[in-house]
Amino acid sequence: MSSTPRDMSTYTPMMQQFLEIKAQYPHTLLLYRMGDFYETFFEDAQIAARELEITLTSRDGGGGQRVDMAGVPHHALEAYLPKLIGRGYKVAVCEQMEPPQGGGKLVRREVVRVITPGTLLEGAMLHEKKPNYLGAVYRFREGFGLAYVDISTGDFRMTEMRGENAADMLVRELAGLELAELVLPCEDPWQAKAVQLTEWADIVPDPALVSWEHQSAFEARSAEERLKKHFGVVSLESFGAQHSPLGIAAAGGILHYLAQTQMSALKQIQRLQSYQISQFMLLDKTTRRNLELTSTYRESSYEGSLLWVLDQTRTAMGGRLLRDWMTHPLLAAQAIESRLNAVEELFADALLREEIRDALDGIRDMERLAARVATQSANPRDLKSLAVSVTRLPQIANLLGHTRSALFEPLRHTDDTLQDLGHHILQALVDSPPPKIQEGGIFADGFQAELDELRQLIRGGKDWIKDLEQTERERTGVKSLKVGFNKTFGYYIEVTHANRDEVPEDYVRKQTLTNAERYITPGLKEKEAAVLNADEQIKKLEYQLYVQLRDSVLPFVPVLQQLSLAVAQLDALASLAEVAVQQHYVRPVIVDAPRLNLINSRHPVIEKTLHRGRFVPNDAQLVAQQAHLMILTGPNMSGKSSYMRQIGLITLMAQMGSFVPAEHAEIGICDRIFTRVGAVDDIATGQSTFMVEMMETSNILHHASVRSLVLLDEIGRGTSTFDGVSIAWSVSEYLAQQIACRTIFATHYHELNRLAEKMPGIMNYQVSVQENSDGIVFLHKVVPGGADRSYGIEVARLAGLPGAVLERAKDLLQDIEKRSRIQSGLLKKARQQATAEDEVQQLSFFE
Ligand code: ADP
Ligand code: MG
Repeated sequence: MSSTPRDMSTYTPMMQQFLEIKAQYPHTLLLYRMGDFYETFFEDAQIAARELEITLTSRDGGGGQRVDMAGVPHHALEAYLPKLIGRGYKVAVCEQMEPPQGGGKLVRREVVRVITPGTLLEGAMLHEKKPNYLGAVYRFREGFGLAYVDISTGDFRMTEMRGENAADMLVRELAGLELAELVLPCEDPWQAKAVQLTEWADIVPDPALVSWEHQSAFEARSAEERLKKHFGVVSLESFGAQHSPLGIAAAGGILHYLAQTQMSALKQIQRLQSYQISQFMLLDKTTRRNLELTSTYRESSYEGSLLWVLDQTRTAMGGRLLRDWMTHPLLAAQAIESRLNAVEELFADALLREEIRDALDGIRDMERLAARVATQSANPRDLKSLAVSVTRLPQIANLLGHTRSALFEPLRHTDDTLQDLGHHILQALVDSPPPKIQEGGIFADGFQAELDELRQLIRGGKDWIKDLEQTERERTGVKSLKVGFNKTFGYYIEVTHANRDEVPEDYVRKQTLTNAERYITPGLKEKEAAVLNADEQIKKLEYQLYVQLRDSVLPFVPVLQQLSLAVAQLDALASLAEVAVQQHYVRPVIVDAPRLNLINSRHPVIEKTLHRGRFVPNDAQLVAQQAHLMILTGPNMSGKSSYMRQIGLITLMAQMGSFVPAEHAEIGICDRIFTRVGAVDDIATGQSTFMVEMMETSNILHHASVRSLVLLDEIGRGTSTFDGVSIAWSVSEYLAQQIACRTIFATHYHELNRLAEKMPGIMNYQVSVQENSDGIVFLHKVVPGGADRSYGIEVARLAGLPGAVLERAKDLLQDIEKRSRIQSGLLKKARQQATAEDEVQQLSFFE
């Protein structure tokens, strides 16, 4: 059996056709339509058989050679695709472009779409509340252009980064987007992937995501022309994109890639949104992970993330937008306030909020439905969902009539023509329309005269056939005579063998069964033909009518997309308001100075997982350049990490426009939140080494500004104690003096408490514990002052270490402490004897 192609001329014409098409799509798995099946051949067949768990067979490839083959029924394609795409394969769907020709003539075939991870339209393969982005990056000298698109919604955006931090910014932005696929320019798309990747190694998040496109697709002039042509504009000014040549190159590259894979007009892509990285708070990958924004650190589960707490949206669009807001916190006070204003209105009016959320409940994913209309893939069910959603809008407009927030404006009025269209669709379709468009049964009675007539004809014919049983029983006197239908023979009259003699002359025998004969009559055949004919006509007619109806929605795609965004916004804001009420949040006061003042603040996730009232609230006051560095000590498990994350989360929530878990919150806008989680905590994921820890610390020291928030959890633990303390100490000094931004440094090294005496702006805090006869009780309360001991043995006792081990450890500790007292006594003596000033300083440094 052969799996690798040989000399073309030895193959059958069909195999030649397959190989020619395959040569045009070498990086794909080619699904070749043959009648009711999609077949794969050669290596593709082996892959398909393995990945889809289907049988590998073979067929004659010409010259007596067998060729591997594996196929799936055409109607099952949607069920099989997710497996292939999920494994990272690209799938080229090759259809028959004309009816079978007969006489063994080869049917013309073409690839109608290449499905890749970043170009999905099918609902089953998409995550409801998550975008599916295809990205492209273009590099020119120091700068980068970035564009990305979700073709299931039409969301298309671009930006560019320049200057020495460009690569850094790009990497961060890519991490936040969680792309499904990344297109990169290269000189030769056929070349081996590994070779090409070397050039991009510094920015590519995951080599498996990458697809290659010839760099000419990114060439500035042609990219711009392609964009202008797609949007039908003479200049890209209306998108604010004219000054971003690198972004344009990336966006043009994407359009080119889409043209090659989608072979459609891409009408769902109606605009290009140009943005600046500097509009949003910078969040690097580690911070996203450490703050557990969309999934938890250890289990990567959604439950337990911030989004899990905040997402109470009622629509998929709202869910996607809320995620977007969370991963792109704002920097402009005005924009933040405008969201907070809207949240407050919905927060304050319980009835309004409830009614709005109820109304949103009936709205389906208009954004993706509109995209399906644009790509002409919307089925009758989709169209009905869209119409139902549209006709809900007046109710929402009504509810928003007396509100003030500017963000609700786009929904306060409804468009009459759109409403008419919605009602028209609802009247046209049957109550529960089918998902298929070729089988009829789509339109309600009374929608169209010709259709009604045909249906009447069928009903008449069927009635006649039904009555036939009665009349024939009377005519022949055979009581058990039956009229039936089967797919091969159509309608028939069935008479048992026992009554064979009663059969009249005009019956024509058609089929013999074990105990009965089946007959037809000319009259029956005639009716049958009429019924079947009418049925065919109905299917054809309904198909035409449906395509017309669907295309009548096309001009509304842009307005539907705008409305979808407005609905998503309302939904996200209402969700924030709902959560704020349920969880007793407060509106943060946004200030334009680098300070932070939280009174009785809580951790949004932990408080939700604990029993009501069990979470201990805490304050936090930080002012850049004055009282900015908090050294936080306390035993293991006392709550240091939780406290720090809580402050990061509250800041981020405020900047996404959310209320926050506190009694009072004043938040100066942060340009970035940096987090660093210590080696000890990291070990579970096996990723942390001292090197990584130091790289992350270095990143913070290089990039933090006075407007940043820095959260350091245990620095210097990955090495020996003296090394560790020294590094922690000097990092703190640098942060306190050189950057002076809001910083919390949680540490086991209570030596660091000495820093507060030596340097202005540093404060000691500890998470308090109560000691009693049985050991310690965690109070989870952050109070001023440094902890003077670590309570390691007490925590070990809580963990159930054997008594003997604990006693021995206690003895050892006492011994070590005694020695250290003697040492420090010697030190004191030495200091008294020291003469030079700097000698004194050296000796008392870590004391
Ligand atoms: P540390 O970093 O000091 O070792 P963690 O922050 O990991 O401690 O907290 C340990 C546990 O204490 C957490 O699992 C959390 O459930 C609980 N906890 C932390 N802070 C509080 C609080 N303020 N109120 C109630 N429980 C808390
Ligand atoms: Mg900790």
